[in-house]
Amino acid sequence: MVDVGIIGSGVIGLSIARELAGRGLTVRVVSRDPPHATTSWAASGIFPPAPEWPGAGPGDRLTAVSDRLHRQWHRDLLEETGIDNGLAVCGGLYLAVHEAGLKRLTDEAASWRSRGCRCDWLAADAVRQAEPSLSAAADSGLIRGAMLLPQRDADSPTAASAGAGGLLPEAGVEMISGTAINSLDRDGDRLRSVRCGDAVHHAAAWVLAAGSWSNEFAEAFGPAVRPRPVRGQIALVQLPQPVLRHIINVGLEYLVPRPDGRVLIGSTLEDTGFAPGTTEPAIARMLRFAHRLVPELAAAQLETTWSGIRPGSPDGLPWIGRSLLLSNGFVATGHFRAGWHQSTGTAELIADLITSATPKLDPTPFAVGRPFTGSDVAAATMQRAADDMAAIQW
Ligand SMILES: Cc1cc2nc3c(=O)[nH]c(=O)nc-3n(C[C@H](O)[C@H](O)[C@H](O)COP(=O)(O)OP(=O)(O)OC[C@H]3O[C@@H](n4cnc5c(N)ncnc54)[C@H](O)[C@@H]3O)c2cc1C
Repeated sequence: MVDVGIIGSGVIGLSIARELAGRGLTVRVVSRDPPHATTSWAASGIFPPAPEWPGAGPGDRLTAVSDRLHRQWHRDLLEETGIDNGLAVCGGLYLAVHEAGLKRLTDEAASWRSRGCRCDWLAADAVRQAEPSLSAAADSGLIRGAMLLPQRDADSPTAASAGAGGLLPEAGVEMISGTAINSLDRDGDRLRSVRCGDAVHHAAAWVLAAGSWSNEFAEAFGPAVRPRPVRGQIALVQLPQPVLRHIINVGLEYLVPRPDGRVLIGSTLEDTGFAPGTTEPAIARMLRFAHRLVPELAAAQLETTWSGIRPGSPDGLPWIGRSLLLSNGFVATGHFRAGWHQSTGTAELIADLITSATPKLDPTPFAVGRPFTGSDVAAATMQRAADDMAAIQW
């Protein structure tokens, strides 16, 4: 019997598998989908600056710890598999295109500075110099001002998922995918095994990392974990050579350059439940957004489109901790828009809990069953996306 079974092969499940295998435990990942068919594969791979500052809340501390670990994991992946997940500092430009956006961005700039991050404010002229591809948009008067975060990173979830998919079997992790888990066999307060069709998989301990679908396991792991599914759509276009120097953001919409000339255009935040796939109006809007900002992109070939379902949580923090019902059960889900960024710190924290090591991060704020007060973060972010769509007609 393996030491730990992990339900889910997204970035959270795979990162936990890697961390546990690195600590000498035997691990089996059981999932409905292979890594290249998960929400994680569908992500954009944007990592905002992640400073550690005295007033940091638990989410920011998790991101800061994760950010440091990503640099190490990036080097390990490259050394062990030759795969470069593309982690690179490319800087983020945030554009204000209307009065309300200008006010919001000024406040955000002040907030980044208070956290000790370098943050430059650019007038339209300086935007042209920093990002020549935006010259036409600046000339047309579209850009009222911009904030530049030079320390913003991007990586490629596609490459990283492929890397992890190849790396884990070499590290002794057994990967089983292709069939949804359809029943769980309990022995009192312990989860003994999971069943996928006719196959039964045993493990001494279990981690639930099924992203938005974690609700399906509420009967065994406890009803406290109820991620809210939030769909995000992406369009990928291809130019013969790179035209963008930075990640460009307007509100929650963005353009992410890849070194090979591809540009990722994203993303929607939709309350459409578990409905997969892309929609013609959303993709058309994203393309209009890209063409309006960077006219060269109108000549780019639309290579493909896709979507993923983010797992939202009410207070914006993931659930990382022990199951309320299972004595050998752990939960790691609800990372919403930051699952890639927070994956490494999540893996370390769960591995600390499983191996009874002293956690480097205080697990209390992430505990399963914590009370929720205040407004629902996932719902508020979707509302902001809807408001932006109404306010900005690309
Ligand atoms: C468009 C988009 C852009 C994003 N951009 C970023 C970004 O720039 N930066 C960032 O940090 N994050 C980003 N995210 C968020 C990030 O992708 C998610 O937070 C992260 O992928 C969640 O990972 P996960 O492992 O929890 O879930 P998933 O990747 O959804 O994996 C869930 C796993 O559970 C398995 N599963 C589900 N049901 C069952 C079942 N019944 N039986 C067996 N297995 C099951 C699935 O097969 C899958 O393997 C983005 C998301 C989207 C959609």
